[in-house]
Amino acid sequence: MNVCVLGAGTMGHGIAQVSAMGGHDVVLRDIDEDIVERGLDHVRENLQGGVDRGKVTEAERDATLERLSGTTDLETAVADADLVVEAVPENEELKRDVLSEAEEYVSADCVVASNTSSISVTGIASALDDPTRAIGLHFFNPVHIMGLVEVVVAEQTSESTRKFAEEFVEGVGKTAVVVEDSPGFASSRLGVALGVEAMRMVQEGVASARDIDASMELGYNHPMGPIELGDVVGLDVRLGILEHLREELGERFRPPTILRKKVRAGKLGKKSGEGFYVWEDGEIVGVSGEGDDE
Ligand code: NAD
Repeated sequence: MNVCVLGAGTMGHGIAQVSAMGGHDVVLRDIDEDIVERGLDHVRENLQGGVDRGKVTEAERDATLERLSGTTDLETAVADADLVVEAVPENEELKRDVLSEAEEYVSADCVVASNTSSISVTGIASALDDPTRAIGLHFFNPVHIMGLVEVVVAEQTSESTRKFAEEFVEGVGKTAVVVEDSPGFASSRLGVALGVEAMRMVQEGVASARDIDASMELGYNHPMGPIELGDVVGLDVRLGILEHLREELGERFRPPTILRKKVRAGKLGKKSGEGFYVWEDGEIVGVSGEGDDE
C-alpha cells in the first residue's frame, strides 16, 4: 500500500517510520526541504538505534529506508496514496486546509486520516468533499515505541473506512482501539481525569506529590505517577486540555487553582525546570516548594 504522511515533525516522522516498517511505500511531506530531511534523519537515527539494541536487523533497516522518501510537493506526495495521514500542528483550520487541499489530488478511494489529539475529527472531516473517507488515527509519542493507536470514528466515517483504518493499524504492529469522535477520545479523557484528581489531592493536602505518584506506580503498576506525568507533558498543555474538556464535558474537568497558579508562574513542568517537581537535566531533583533533594 502507498502511504503519505503530511508533516515531518515529532509525530509525522514516527508514523512514516512505522508505516514503512510495516511494508508500505511511504512519502513524507513537509513544507520545507530542511524539515523533510530532518524528519528522514530522525527515522534513520531511530532505526540505527534499533539495530544497535538488537531490535531491528540491518536488512530491516535498509528495506525500511528504501520504502521511504520525502518531498515538499503535495501533489507528488499524495497522488498514488491509498492512505494520507496528516500530522501537522494542532490547529483545526490548518488541518482542514491541508486535508482538503490533499483531497484535490488523491484517488477516489483514498482514506484520509488525522493524527489530532484533541480536535473533533467530525469537524475536520466536514472540510472534505467526501467526508466518508475521513477518520482519526491517534498515534502516541514516540510512535515507534508506543503500542496504541486510537481509531477515531467521525459522524461521517464509512464502515469501509473504519475497517481499512483498523487493518492498517494492526498491519503496522499496533493495537487499534476504536472510539467515537468525542472530546478527549478515550485515552486523554481518562488520563486527564486521573491527573486532575491527583492535582486536587495535592492541593487539599491529602498526600504529597511523591506519595500520590508512588501509590499509582506501586499500587496500580503505572509506569509513571499522574503528577509526574503532568510535569512531563507540560502543565500548560494539561491546562489547555482541561479547559477544552470542561467546555465540552462539564465541571468535573474544571482545572484546579494549584494548576492555574503554576502555569501563571511559568512553572510548566520538566521543560521549564519546575512544575509539581523540580527538574534538572530531565531528572526530578526535588519537590516544588520543598527545596531540592540534594
Ligand atoms: P510538530 O510541530 O513536531 O510537527 C508538525 C509538522 O507539520 C512541522 O514539521 C511543520 O513544518 C509541518 N507542517 C505545517 N504545515 C504543514 C503543511 N501544510 N503540510 C505539511 N506539513 C506541515 O507537531 P507534532 O508534535 O508532530 O504534532 C502533530 C500532530 O500530532 C498534532 O495534531 C498533535 O496534536 C498530534 N499529536 C502529538 C503528540 C505529541 O506527543 N507530540 C501525540 C499525539 C498526537
